[in-house]
Amino acid sequence: MSIKKLSPEDLLALNKFAVDEGNPHILVDKTKCAQCTARPCLVVCPARCYRQKDGEVNFEYAGCLECGTCRVVCTYGGVTSWNYPRASYGVTFRCS
Ligand code: SF4
Ligand code: SF4
Repeated sequence: MSIKKLSPEDLLALNKFAVDEGNPHILVDKTKCAQCTARPCLVVCPARCYRQKDGEVNFEYAGCLECGTCRVVCTYGGVTSWNYPRASYGVTFRCS
C-alpha cells in the first residue's frame, strides 16, 4: 500500500465549507489592524483568511478552519469577536 503525498493546498481543497452568508463568525476591526505593525495573523492563519493588500489587512471568513489561532495571536484588538459558526455551518474536514 502506498500513501499519496498531498500538498497543503491539496489537503485544504478536500474540506467542505457551508458559509453562513452575511453572518461572519469572526469580526475584525480594520482600524485596529491599521495600528498593528507585527500583523501575525498574516502568517499564522493556515487558511490564509488574512491577506494584505496596499498596506491594508483584509479578512475573509469563508475558508476559516476554526482553529482559533488568530484569536490567540491578535494582541492589538483587531479580532473583536470570535465564535464558532452556527450549527450546520462552517468547515467539514475530510481526509480523502
Ligand atoms: S493581529 Fe489582529 S490587529 Fe493585527 S492585523 Fe491581525 S487581526 Fe489586525
Ligand atoms: S480561526 Fe484559524 S483558520 Fe480561522 S481565520 Fe483564525 S487563524 Fe484562520
